[in-house]
Amino acid sequence: MKAIVVGGGIGGLATAIALSQDGWTVEVLERAAQFTEVGAGLSLWPNALRALDALGVKHDIEQRALRGVQAGIRHPSGRWLSRTDTAELERRYGRLAMIHRADLLSVLRDAAPADSLRPGVSVHRVTRNGLVEHSNGTSKADVVIGADGIHSAVRRSIWPDAPAPHYVGYTAWRMVTKPIAVTEEGETWGRGQRFGYAQLPDGRVYCFATANTAEGTAGSSLAELRRRFGSWHDPIPALLDATDESAVLNHDIYELPRLSTYVMDRVILVGDAAHAMTPNLGQGACQAIEDAVALPAALRTNQLAAYDRARRARTQMIAQRAHRIGRLGQLSSPPAVALRNSAMRITPSSSLLRSLDPVLSWTPDGANT
Ligand SMILES: Cc1cc2nc3c(=O)[nH]c(=O)nc-3n(C[C@H](O)[C@H](O)[C@H](O)COP(=O)(O)OP(=O)(O)OC[C@H]3O[C@@H](n4cnc5c(N)ncnc54)[C@H](O)[C@@H]3O)c2cc1C
Repeated sequence: MKAIVVGGGIGGLATAIALSQDGWTVEVLERAAQFTEVGAGLSLWPNALRALDALGVKHDIEQRALRGVQAGIRHPSGRWLSRTDTAELERRYGRLAMIHRADLLSVLRDAAPADSLRPGVSVHRVTRNGLVEHSNGTSKADVVIGADGIHSAVRRSIWPDAPAPHYVGYTAWRMVTKPIAVTEEGETWGRGQRFGYAQLPDGRVYCFATANTAEGTAGSSLAELRRRFGSWHDPIPALLDATDESAVLNHDIYELPRLSTYVMDRVILVGDAAHAMTPNLGQGACQAIEDAVALPAALRTNQLAAYDRARRARTQMIAQRAHRIGRLGQLSSPPAVALRNSAMRITPSSSLLRSLDPVLSWTPDGANT
């Protein structure tokens, strides 16, 4: 049986590994000239590490990842608003890891069958019976997996009436600094803007920041980041000083309105193509990897409808939670921010952890859940 995977990002490569391990002949069509990722970090939560274990690559990932350290949310003055008990999180759910995206991609690319990878092939259109029109001609497969991200051509072909992704009102910057030591990590929430950072295994630090802005206006200048965050608590100014201008990436944040199905005949959507969500829970890529791991059993047992129901329920629940956290994090009116900060200060870290239970307790054995 042959599967064509459209898109060779995290979701597409994870799907290619999962399907080839289950006996499928796989082709991954990727429009970029190489299988690689942007220069930023990524959090891999315990649910994703379990999924990566099922793909047989957890060890390779852990070699390139750093364990989560003490973390939490602070006020721009440096005062803690809430602490995450990472030791307790690990005890309950397992390890949390920070990795450079390029490292994750390279582990997945190496684990996918070498002869399945077709870089430089751009897909234009697919049909429900498994026909794929692309820049090199036409191919046919038993199933087509749309793993081509938030602006998916596969989704546009098969779900032409699905609403387009919409801007959520804030933009995000990401950058990786030169090596610099930080002792703690986490996020800092101000008024309508946030800054976060986490150490990477090679001593560099992955930073991200958000701000409420009009769509398409933010730009990727370090001066803008200094203007917004340069007076915030240590080590934020030092992290900005350790960043090259060329390392700053800026992307407005979009999310995909809920789809009513991820499966149509022989075409299946995974990852951002199916459920692009705001990054507030750090779960977008984690969910793409879960999709990949749940798919082979569903195909083998002819249970695609159950797969569809379970993956939609789970990913749409997580997207909704991420959306809500984003709204709280981006509050800008002083009274609302004061109320939010007081609520965070009095919420025990144990109840924050408990609230993550539905997200983090996923296991591959739960089949489609
Ligand atoms: C600021 C920010 C921070 C984030 N942080 C985290 C985090 O910490 N943890 C986490 O789990 N997630 C995080 N995410 C989400 C995560 O980046 C995405 O969910 C994840 O990359 C989705 O992977 P994907 O493979 O589905 O899609 P993509 O990564 O978008 O990959 C799609 C691939 O398809 C290719 N493609 C597109 N169109 C075509 C075509 N027509 N033909 C052929 N190829 C095509 C593209 O070139 C690309 O390689 C974050 C997102 C943002 C914006």
